[in-house]
Amino acid sequence: MAWTQKILRVNLTDGTAKSEPLNMEWAAEYLGQRGLATKYLMEEMDPKVDPLSADNKLIFTTGPLTGTCASTAGRYSVVTKGPLTGAIACSNSGGFLGPELKSAGWDMIIFEGQAPDPVYLYVEDDKAELRPADAIWGKSVWETDAILHKAHQDPQLRIACVGRSAEQGCLYAGVVNDLHRAAGRSGVGTVMAAKNLKAVAVRGTKGVGNIKDPARFFQAVADGKAVLAENAVTGQGLPAFGTQVLMNVINEAGALPTRNMREVQFEGAGKISGEAMKEKRPTDGRSNLVTNAACFSCTIACGRISVIDQGHFTIANKPEYWGASGGLEYEAAWALGSDTGVDDLDALTYANFVCNEDGFDPISFGSTLAAAMELYENGHITDKETGGLSLKFGSAEALTKAAELVASGEGFGKDLGMGSKRLCEKYGHPDLAMHVKGQEFPAYDPRGIQGMGLTYATSNRGACHLRSYTVASEILGIPEKTDPLVAEGKPGLVKAFQDATAAVDSSGLCLFTTFAWSLENIAPQVDAACEGEWSAETLAEVGERIWNLERQFNLAAGFTAKDDTLPKRFFKEAAASGPAEGKVSAVVEMLPEYYELRGWSSDGVPTDETCQRLGL
Ligand code: SF4
Repeated sequence: MAWTQKILRVNLTDGTAKSEPLNMEWAAEYLGQRGLATKYLMEEMDPKVDPLSADNKLIFTTGPLTGTCASTAGRYSVVTKGPLTGAIACSNSGGFLGPELKSAGWDMIIFEGQAPDPVYLYVEDDKAELRPADAIWGKSVWETDAILHKAHQDPQLRIACVGRSAEQGCLYAGVVNDLHRAAGRSGVGTVMAAKNLKAVAVRGTKGVGNIKDPARFFQAVADGKAVLAENAVTGQGLPAFGTQVLMNVINEAGALPTRNMREVQFEGAGKISGEAMKEKRPTDGRSNLVTNAACFSCTIACGRISVIDQGHFTIANKPEYWGASGGLEYEAAWALGSDTGVDDLDALTYANFVCNEDGFDPISFGSTLAAAMELYENGHITDKETGGLSLKFGSAEALTKAAELVASGEGFGKDLGMGSKRLCEKYGHPDLAMHVKGQEFPAYDPRGIQGMGLTYATSNRGACHLRSYTVASEILGIPEKTDPLVAEGKPGLVKAFQDATAAVDSSGLCLFTTFAWSLENIAPQVDAACEGEWSAETLAEVGERIWNLERQFNLAAGFTAKDDTLPKRFFKEAAASGPAEGKVSAVVEMLPEYYELRGWSSDGVPTDETCQRLGL
């Protein structure tokens, strides 16, 4: 069966934790994780609720393959209504928390209400109880992890928690597990903190089983692993350079967003790239990258473990940062680096450490800081508003100090913690915020990669690269090469990527497998593990159902087709260099075809026929 078929429902208001059966009819329609949790949310909650009220629900959810021996089967998601956007929020994380939850016997935890005082949830197999969080409230992620491990005297305890930024109301705070793996986007940690829930600590000893056909499953898993090992991206590029393999590639393609997305190429890209992370520093003779690392059961191992030069200005007097910790992924390196104009690799690494330590999204943080830098450059904010912080593009001091302020919620950190949309609205220049539906852009300029413009505009959780990664096709030629500067054919490409991604995100597997795997590689693994019949076509249909359900959630929350757009910059300011020179985004031209392919009205609403076909 793969699913444990058990949900833990925790009511924080009255302090209860109860077991209930998983709805297997819904599991057959939505598979698990992202899809299944969204179904629960839609059925149980009014999408109009205030995200930070007791009425919002917060779901920790695994997929049917989570915790199995399939490669990358370590994923879980946190699903809720997001405070940054007011839209559906689903944020996915690796590490070891998801498999531990599954091993304790649970597919999902649904948190309801709001605790009167700070608590954490302790789960040990069937036992689940809320405990006072007095000793950890106000502490960072790293401190919380250490305190709980010491208190429980169990090194195998897996902990997911929020840091100080979430407690301080930063709207893009995440949930961090295993110290530096995070359900990082859309403010799911802010919702958790608003519920007075500091941490979830899990110990599972039951193991993960219930595989429908173990012999066939092992074969399908072995076949899948062989494909990953033989592929140039998953077998070589990602293990060697992580996602940072992309920094120079995207810069050369003229799609590396730079200085609040005014430019599309960064002169300092080489200094903050995956290659640079491996070079020995002249200052201390060590490289930034110590080793790669893997999440549970992953044979790709794209994770980065880094050290900062002990003499660097950020940590010279802070020995607590002298050890190795989670290093830069491409998204963090871009947002903290080219978008702020900073090319100091160790400063970026320090800012990234702080994001992990106090649990906030480096993409939204870097992008919000970049917007603040443009406001500052244009004189719309001054030292008076920033508390004396000189927010010049390229300033490593400004970057690292700003990260510290967001972590603690002090001074201008409060403004930065609002996200770019609210920040730029507050200071009278909303057009300087690079966001969709309130969430900041990721690392691909939509003028240089046209499919990503449509991806961002239509993404159900706001601007995001993990909802349809057309970069794979438009830049890397996976599964086939398309021209990144051409809009023709992109609506169909975006739809196909969106549906496939929703299915992968619901399985328990990592999206990075899709550099090598199609649904044809994933279906045999799901089919051998799960009750029912699961082909590539079934998975694509499940993905399409999930996409439409998320759309329905957002429509019910108050979004309309008017929100399927990009900031004016991408329509009015053409790319000034590189292959995309002279190009603007063609989102407006692509949208009607996209709606038609989706089976939506010209207002972006799923038609009755589409809903009927998908069983919505
Ligand atoms: S590919 Fe990277 S992010 Fe995905 S499971 Fe493996 S180590 Fe984790």
